[in-house]
Amino acid sequence: MTLHASYDPSNIFNKILRGEMPSVKVFEDDVALAFMDVFPQVEGHTLVIPKDVAARNFLDMPENKLGDYMLRVQKVARAVEATLKPDGLRVMQFNGAPAGQTVYHLHFHILPIFDGVKVGAHASGGMKSAADLEPIAAKIRASF
Ligand code: AMP
Repeated sequence: MTLHASYDPSNIFNKILRGEMPSVKVFEDDVALAFMDVFPQVEGHTLVIPKDVAARNFLDMPENKLGDYMLRVQKVARAVEATLKPDGLRVMQFNGAPAGQTVYHLHFHILPIFDGVKVGAHASGGMKSAADLEPIAAKIRASF
């Protein structure tokens, strides 16, 4: 059901893009915005969203904007890796509620993975404050 629907501009990530909701940003340009996930599955869990598109998911993304956006996803993934030096890096993206999507504005998750460190459940667990997230965000920001 939710895989195909019209874009709802009141979604929380669009509110962040419009400056109506706060976020702890690590990167922003004319194509994309990256910020810390407030329910991080691991320390350093970062999200990258495209600007100026009404794309609920990967399937909706206009082809002529996809390449530029994916370059930003890679750029942020590289900055997370350079900052935190994880053993692995998980880049993931969900389409539709049955696949695990909870916010309907396209986004990629970037998760630094460390040997022996458990990855928390998706979109659950404790909510982090801006003060909690800012120290690691500042380090990632400095890697660009
Ligand atoms: P998904 O389930 O793939 O749609 O991912 C949505 C992600 O957004 C989840 O990992 C949530 O923890 C995260 N999230 C929800 N609200 C916010 C918010 N206001 N700021 C940052 N991350 C959020």
